[in-house]
Amino acid sequence: MRASAGSARPGVQAAKPTEGAAAEETLDKLPEWYVLVGTCPACRRSGPVERRDIIRVMGRRAVLSAIPSKLRCKGCTNKSGNKLTIKKLPR
Ligand SMILES: [Zn+2]
Repeated sequence: MRASAGSARPGVQAAKPTEGAAAEETLDKLPEWYVLVGTCPACRRSGPVERRDIIRVMGRRAVLSAIPSKLRCKGCTNKSGNKLTIKKLPR
């Protein structure tokens, strides 16, 4: 008997489900339709984080969970406690 494609899932599922994209994902694996938004706890400013900027600092294999520690607020230049949110663009 030959098994058809059926409901086999492509690729490997993330071991730990997290909100949105998995925290262990790397930037190069994040689909284009996800945008990164940084939030500063000091002045409550938030704004998009350019992938290009992350790649320049951390490289393409940047682990998403490691990005927040590299963020610097454009408003008050605060570098600690910044949060990174991964948002899915409506398609
Ligand atoms: Zn700030």
